[in-house]
Amino acid sequence: MNSQPPPDKTTDVRMRGFSSRSTVEAAVAWIDSVLPEFSSLRTEVVSLTDAASRVLAVDVISDVNVPGFTRSMMDGFALRSEETYGATGYNPLPFQIAGTCLPGIPYSGTVTPGNAVRIMTGAPLPDGTDSVLPVENTETQGQTLFAMAEVSAGKHVGAVGEDVRIGAVVLSAGRLLRPQDIGVLSSIGCDTMTVVRRPLVRILITGNELLPSGTPPRGYQIADANGPMLQSLVCRDGGRPVMPGLIPDDRESLLAALSEPADIVLISGGSSVGQEDHAPRILAEHGTLAIHGIAMRPSSPAGMGQFRNQLVCLLPGNPVSCLCAYDFFAGRAIRAMGGRSKDWPYRKTQATLSRKLVSTVGRVDYARVKLDGDQVEPLAISGASVLTSTTQADGFVIIPADSEGYAAQSVVNIFLY
Ligand code: AMP
Ligand code: MG
Repeated sequence: MNSQPPPDKTTDVRMRGFSSRSTVEAAVAWIDSVLPEFSSLRTEVVSLTDAASRVLAVDVISDVNVPGFTRSMMDGFALRSEETYGATGYNPLPFQIAGTCLPGIPYSGTVTPGNAVRIMTGAPLPDGTDSVLPVENTETQGQTLFAMAEVSAGKHVGAVGEDVRIGAVVLSAGRLLRPQDIGVLSSIGCDTMTVVRRPLVRILITGNELLPSGTPPRGYQIADANGPMLQSLVCRDGGRPVMPGLIPDDRESLLAALSEPADIVLISGGSSVGQEDHAPRILAEHGTLAIHGIAMRPSSPAGMGQFRNQLVCLLPGNPVSCLCAYDFFAGRAIRAMGGRSKDWPYRKTQATLSRKLVSTVGRVDYARVKLDGDQVEPLAISGASVLTSTTQADGFVIIPADSEGYAAQSVVNIFLY
């Protein structure tokens, strides 16, 4: 039941249709123009293991050498290299075994000429020695070692600071931390790290016809596809998604949900000019509706604006439109706010069109395509409600607004999902 009066066509953004649409470039430019307001997106200190896949907020300069001591790189014998000269299998040279040196347990004395110390990988090189003769080049009899090969000075020895030097910039601010980065940071003694705070993204899913994720569709109701999809997209782009339950299609519920704290709010559904489309009007009345209606397909009923200090993206409810509008606009903002590259996280490739790909001049088309070797087959441009067009596709082709499309056999750029 809807007890609200019908919309007033003179003041209401609803039910007028879109008289004009913004270009995709203008919408992207608007996002980019407001991003500086959010760029102070602050940092936080997290435990080292939680820093993986986060964006480093500081330059990390090492105040230690790694390793901090000269160490053996092999199991064998530490000795003076010049005393091995001439050693071969036919001419074994004898040494006295003066002791043993283990990882973490150094040999206490200084090794004198004619002596060698049994040593394991990672153990500190004893004073008086300059090299390690690997165990496979030796034989032993009691306390006597026979060197069966020569080694040169420094052979099989890891130098102080060979991994990290004191004062070196180990990693720079802006780095998206890889697992091996976490390992290096640990090796120089870090147990916490200063990273860019992840933008808090509130996902508001509207639609009285929706059932919560995990519910089989029944009667005239459909299960929410956009909520879990958007949560996954936000995580991919380094945001922290928060999703309250489904929001009913009424002004009060939406306004209340918008009033919760967030850096960016994604509203799925109700973004167009229908009677149940409350989001644009709420933005226009209580914040700013900067862009509404975009010359693209799908996603033309997308919009964006601000509410208090939040960036708000209006994503059409049709799931392909929702995905596409997220990728064009919301994802860009989330990545940038979290210190990541604004660019799409999709790998790009090129292939030859197996059929022509027709598009309308004046709007950007988002064509789902399937790759087959070096050929690419267009699957769909329209059909914004058919989400499996994106799961059957390997990626998408963007056809710019000034293009009528591409002839069969043209080579096109593909973004791989
Ligand atoms: P709307 O943008 O609210 O006008 O919705 C457009 C179409 O998308 C309608 O057929 C809705 O039922 C459908 N839709 C809206 N939200 C979702 C959602 N979260 N998951 C799947 N379909 C949706
Ligand atoms: Mg709706």
